[in-house]
Amino acid sequence: MKKGIALFGGTFDPIHIGHLQSALEVQQNLNLLAVRLIPSFLPPHRESPGCEAEQRLAMVRIAVANSSVLEVDDREIRRQGPSYTFDTLESIRDEVGPEIALILVLGLDSFTTLSEWHRWQDLLDSTHILVLDRPGCSWTIAPELQAKISDRMVDEASCLLQESAGLVARMQTTQLDITATDIRMRLSQRKPVGYLLPDGVSQFIEQQHIYQH
Ligand code: ATP
Repeated sequence: MKKGIALFGGTFDPIHIGHLQSALEVQQNLNLLAVRLIPSFLPPHRESPGCEAEQRLAMVRIAVANSSVLEVDDREIRRQGPSYTFDTLESIRDEVGPEIALILVLGLDSFTTLSEWHRWQDLLDSTHILVLDRPGCSWTIAPELQAKISDRMVDEASCLLQESAGLVARMQTTQLDITATDIRMRLSQRKPVGYLLPDGVSQFIEQQHIYQH
């Protein structure tokens, strides 16, 4: 078995317990060295985030400050420009070398859009992909994506650790029906969000007056 690192990208606008609980379960289920949370600078496939990249990064740092297995990787924010996952993967692979298994974690909602991503076919060779089920989201994927992944799918996520890259697996983590969109909406309507986010993140949002209109 190889050693593995999971890469959990996102806008994290803001980071919430749905992200964090899933990341923890992935780390533990696969006994990974770490899960790296990678906030994007400019997500290519969605509207601009509701606050500054530095604020989103700060919230991710606060959220994992006491964790020994969840790490922050700020390279997309340092790089600026469009945050293409393929570029991020290449730079991480250069650093960790060819032996470590790299596992890109995607919620099913993100995975279903993969065939629209920059260099998505090359991406399938440069990393494993671990797809997390999400409430209300079904496995409906473009035929071209299905065709590309059918001979890469493995039944057990632990099989990903037999290779460094190139396979696709699914995993069921605790289903928390929470989205950052809903949290932003609740904040703009002055509704409570206290238990959807780590305490420090709620406090940061309050201090910085973000998402409030
Ligand atoms: P938004 O509502 O703004 O689109 P989001 O809550 O979906 O945000 P993102 O930062 O866009 O969060 O997502 C980053 C990654 O985390 C994606 O792969 C997404 O599928 C996954 N994810 C988001 N929320 C959850 C959740 N509650 N449980 C599991 N995975 C999640």
